[in-house]
Amino acid sequence: MSTFRFQALKETAGRKPVKVQELDKKSIIFGSNVFNDKAMRQFLTPEAYKAVQSAVQHGTKIDRKLADYIAMGMKEWSLSKGVTHYTHWFQPLTGTTAEKHDAFFETSFDGTDPVEKFGGSQLVQQEPDASSFPNGGIRNTFEARGYTAWDPTSPAFIFGTTLCIPTVFISYTGEALDYKTPLLRALTAVDEAAVAVCNYFDKNVKKVTATLGWEQEYFLVDSALANSRPDITLTGRTLLGHSSAKGQQLDDHYFGSIPTRALNYMRDLENECMLLGIPVKTRHNEVAPNQFELAPIFEEANLAVDHNSLLMDVMQKVGERHYFKVLLHEKPFAGVNGSGKHNNWSMATDTGVNLLGPGKTPMSNLQFLTFFINTIKAVYTNEELMRASIATASNDHRLGANEAPPAIISVFIGEQLTKVLAELEGVSTGKLSPEEKTDLKLNVVGKIPDVLLDNTDRNRTSPFAFTGNKFEFRAVGSSANCANAMTIVNSIMAKQLRDFKKEVDALIDGKEMKKDDAIFNVLREYIKETKAILFEGDGYSEAWAEEAAKRGLSNHKTTPGALKAKISEKSLALFQELGVMNHTEAEARYEIELEEYAKKIQIEGRVLGDIARNHVIPTAIRYQNILIENVTGLKEIFGDEYTSIGKEQINIIREISGHIAGINTQVEQMTEARKTANALTTAEELAHAYCDTVKPYFDVIRRHCDKLELIVDDEAWPLTKYRELLFTR
Ligand code: ADP
Ligand code: MG
Repeated sequence: MSTFRFQALKETAGRKPVKVQELDKKSIIFGSNVFNDKAMRQFLTPEAYKAVQSAVQHGTKIDRKLADYIAMGMKEWSLSKGVTHYTHWFQPLTGTTAEKHDAFFETSFDGTDPVEKFGGSQLVQQEPDASSFPNGGIRNTFEARGYTAWDPTSPAFIFGTTLCIPTVFISYTGEALDYKTPLLRALTAVDEAAVAVCNYFDKNVKKVTATLGWEQEYFLVDSALANSRPDITLTGRTLLGHSSAKGQQLDDHYFGSIPTRALNYMRDLENECMLLGIPVKTRHNEVAPNQFELAPIFEEANLAVDHNSLLMDVMQKVGERHYFKVLLHEKPFAGVNGSGKHNNWSMATDTGVNLLGPGKTPMSNLQFLTFFINTIKAVYTNEELMRASIATASNDHRLGANEAPPAIISVFIGEQLTKVLAELEGVSTGKLSPEEKTDLKLNVVGKIPDVLLDNTDRNRTSPFAFTGNKFEFRAVGSSANCANAMTIVNSIMAKQLRDFKKEVDALIDGKEMKKDDAIFNVLREYIKETKAILFEGDGYSEAWAEEAAKRGLSNHKTTPGALKAKISEKSLALFQELGVMNHTEAEARYEIELEEYAKKIQIEGRVLGDIARNHVIPTAIRYQNILIENVTGLKEIFGDEYTSIGKEQINIIREISGHIAGINTQVEQMTEARKTANALTTAEELAHAYCDTVKPYFDVIRRHCDKLELIVDDEAWPLTKYRELLFTR
């Protein structure tokens, strides 16, 4: 008898909503645990304050002396809030955040002179023992030291009783070992390239900031139920489980009223976010049962990425208080929707203009169209790299599974802008006549409304959609660090804007064209060139897959194939040119991601094999024995007639044996496939082997297990069922 599942259910049934501590108005508590402008003004000397501001705005270096003053101020601020420890907080390539807490407390060796200390050197640089973070072969173990370095553009914050200082993480030889470093480099590149293009329209623009607003989807499962499932505990998703009789078909959860326990969790989470300066704004139910979404007000991309990484951590911690396990996995449950993390992206100037927002004048609209069309061109040229930026073992479950955008990258722009592009395509080659220009400005560019209506009616099936004043990269996975996607989007945009500027300048200088003429000419060619990437139809349809193939668009359904684009000659050259990553860094990352892929599949394979053999088969045998006993009894009573009287039981006995045999042979074959794979030497071979020869067993084994779940006595079934995981409130 499975006591585990029933205990878990009993525990869950007895849960009361956890009371949420009432805090002051959001506008008052917002950022109170962040070393923000207000705290800096209060705790830093004017000189130190200026140094931080200048580092944030212009990337200037902070000298050691000032670093000491800044550290002192940070320490005083922290101590005033009961903080005891500090940590460099970074985002290694494991996908989570890393921290190692040190106490401010220090004393001399004989225990005299106890003090709280924190100096510039501790603030600016640390050397965590980093040998066990993924490095893709960059660091040999004998030089295992990597170091973390303060990123002043993302403010320090207090979590619990620890001061967290956002940092980059680099190897001793200077290569990036984290997500943040290449992102910061990409953001610098896009800033420079975009400013140069903006200056065609407005000489006052000195800085362009990439903006990001993510939308985090997640599942909440009672912690007792989650803990009763070894697959959820070890892999973050269910590897088996028959679908519930009721799933999401009634659509009764989406935007419905939020269950009390979940609502309390959300309120508590929002409070924490407010204190941490994460500007969360919206919360609602998602499509699947027990699935929810949280979205903030958009921010500068680096800060937004940090905030999302921090949020994922905070979500778990707050979840513990409410007896929830938060599932951030892209596909925790088969047969119901998975979770994504839309990345809303745009660029803003220091003069307050959203570069992907239509303006009020023809000139500002020409600027908008310039950035808009360049984005399309960037995606067109680098669609494979875009696909690679979202490739993970867990996201493979979503992409192309009729609930999330397909694995084919395309751009949706809506009806109105499609028309505008068609008109621009007709612009004559060379110098434009004054009449044509007037007509363009008045009737084409000038007529773009500042609210693009059809874009609010968005096409949910598009992986990269224009939604009125930003692009929405929808194919990003819920568990992903947004930095991966954001590094690529901003890099390809930077490269594209550089190329655009060169082309326009060549027409201005070489052909003596006017600036506007040159811009119209280049844009026209882009529109002609990039048609293959534009798609307004149903991205889930089979017809689109066929059409996309004809258009020459890539369709990498699995991660190992998709990742390859990260080290194509074109991508390597792009990263190199922009200074985002050198070859070593790019190749190391490729290697790390392949290794991670193989490891994830390996773990899932082991866990599935274990559960199938240690939970499912023994349970099935016990139930089969009950049936056998029953049939033997029937034989005793009815003699030869038992075969007809006990016919159904005998059938079930046979059926069970069939599934047991199925599980056993498939698990054995899968284990053999793993062994063969493990003998391979390169990360690439390993990942492909796991993808092509190990993973295919998952579905087969699962099918046998799920069939047994339907047959076997519910009371005997050891694993918490889908209906219990998904519908318990
Ligand atoms: P919804 O999609 O729910 O209608 P919005 O379109 O306002 O809501 O925003 C969705 C997300 O896009 C939010 O996280 C929001 O902060 C973000 N967003 C809005 N404008 C921008 C922008 N210019 N740059 C980046 N993100 C943005
Ligand atoms: Mg959205």
